[in-house]
Amino acid sequence: MSKWPQPFVSTVSHWQATNRGRKSLYNHNKDAALPTEVIDYVIVGGGIAGTTMAYHLTRPGIANGKTVAVLEAKDLASGASGRNGGHCAPFSFGALTLLTTPLTEGGAGLTIEEAIEVLDLEKRVLEYVTDTIEKEKWDVDFWKGEKVEVRVSQEGKAKMTENYAKWIAARENHPSLKGTEPEWTWNDDEIEAKKATRIHNAIAYSKGPAGSCHPHKLATAFMKSAMETGRAEFYSYAPVQSTKKVDGIWELEVHEKRTIKAKEVIFCTNAHTPHLFEGSPIANYLVPYQAQAANITTPLSYSGSKYLNNSYTIEDGPYLMFTPDSGLVMGLAHYNAHKLGVMTKKEIYVDHDAYVAEGIRTWLQDYCKNNFSDWGSEAPGEGAMRIWAGMLCATKNTLPLVGEIPGKEGMYMAAGFHGHGMARIPLVTKYLAKLITTKEWDEGLPSTFKITEERFERGKSALPFFTEEELDDSLAGKFKKAVGLGSKPVPCVR
Ligand SMILES: Cc1cc2nc3c(=O)[nH]c(=O)nc-3n(C[C@H](O)[C@H](O)[C@H](O)COP(=O)(O)OP(=O)(O)OC[C@H]3O[C@@H](n4cnc5c(N)ncnc54)[C@H](O)[C@@H]3O)c2cc1C
Repeated sequence: MSKWPQPFVSTVSHWQATNRGRKSLYNHNKDAALPTEVIDYVIVGGGIAGTTMAYHLTRPGIANGKTVAVLEAKDLASGASGRNGGHCAPFSFGALTLLTTPLTEGGAGLTIEEAIEVLDLEKRVLEYVTDTIEKEKWDVDFWKGEKVEVRVSQEGKAKMTENYAKWIAARENHPSLKGTEPEWTWNDDEIEAKKATRIHNAIAYSKGPAGSCHPHKLATAFMKSAMETGRAEFYSYAPVQSTKKVDGIWELEVHEKRTIKAKEVIFCTNAHTPHLFEGSPIANYLVPYQAQAANITTPLSYSGSKYLNNSYTIEDGPYLMFTPDSGLVMGLAHYNAHKLGVMTKKEIYVDHDAYVAEGIRTWLQDYCKNNFSDWGSEAPGEGAMRIWAGMLCATKNTLPLVGEIPGKEGMYMAAGFHGHGMARIPLVTKYLAKLITTKEWDEGLPSTFKITEERFERGKSALPFFTEEELDDSLAGKFKKAVGLGSKPVPCVR
């Protein structure tokens, strides 16, 4: 992958469907000629990474007088950013298991100190997004409140209890967190868990800061704000095919024999990155896969004063948030989908967003009525109204690739957000803008995100998950053959 223009029709998300009006950037500069002068910064990809990148580079005092062009293969936020769960929610202490499990066993392989830095970044991203939306007065359906993380098994509860103690102890050893108020609480009282979460089999829950928004509107707001400076422009339907350096300037070949020249180029192409770096360790480090989400119109039992107050992640179940007026948006992480038997591994590691497999579709349709107390029956027009797919980008150690690409001076990347980009990207790109303009790595950006040869080398110890034969035999493989995408070796995935 990726082939542009794509040889299939993508599903349409709730967010894409509800930001179609004249305030949106659909079709923006679709037929316009690309600039002929050398642009200071060309950003490839118009998701939340590309649009926040443009925003940061055009803030006063950052890159004064410099020009920015964002090239997007389709429409703005047509990738994961316009198809996600709408959650902008930091990981809690519960993520310590994933972050500190060794790389060879499927985790990120971080020390506890490095893991705490990642969690702290996510906490600061939510604060940054909150402040920016308030300061800019953007109307992006933003909500800030609390997320509950529900545990339904004794094993899950015990793991969370252990992680909570680890997290509290690690915070006390961390120079800047020592003595500060922990932002998460942990409650292992079963009666209280059922009452507080409204999940009938809840036995414990954590509570901590979370946010949600209309991600398509948010990406549009970042881009429009960059354009208002007069220094940035956005080009839709401008897929970059290849790059080369000529006399110290990057030349990007764009579909339909167009070219654009850049002093510096920044790839914000997430799941679509490997095809641009064939033969490079980057292509092996990143693995596209599919996730799905649904918009659920709540029945009267969960509307008005009975609407949800919190966003959720539920053990062996979905993550979900509520929109201001249009019901819930809910998704199921791929590991849960596989554990619950509603998706095969082969169905998960699909590199397109053109269909939602039957098992996950049915599961998303049925979850709320089977699990929320007194949900009741759904009238025609209530329940799962729109279900869509999106492409995400796994990495060998679950952390993104950020910074200058080794051996490619003036070429940068922020990609590989492993299904958790909304909680990381807005500050990752701010720090990347600083790196590009000052050559300084901000200490707020975890050093474990940095692109290094050594990281690529370590990534080789991750276990293979799939073989080419398995993929070719799968529904995804058959689909790829049917639309003429062919097949490629599949890199290791855990
Ligand atoms: C169903 C689903 C649920 C999710 N839920 C959450 C959630 O609740 N919370 C959370 O934090 N994260 C969530 N995520 C993940 C999150 O959406 C991503 O991590 C994030 O949006 C990645 O942003 P991005 O800008 O890096 O990538 P994308 O939004 O995918 O943007 C990349 C863009 O690059 C463009 N592009 C690619 N190749 C080229 C090229 N050659 N030339 C020009 N343009 C190109 C693509 O068209 C695309 O628009 C979810 C994702 C999905 C799909």
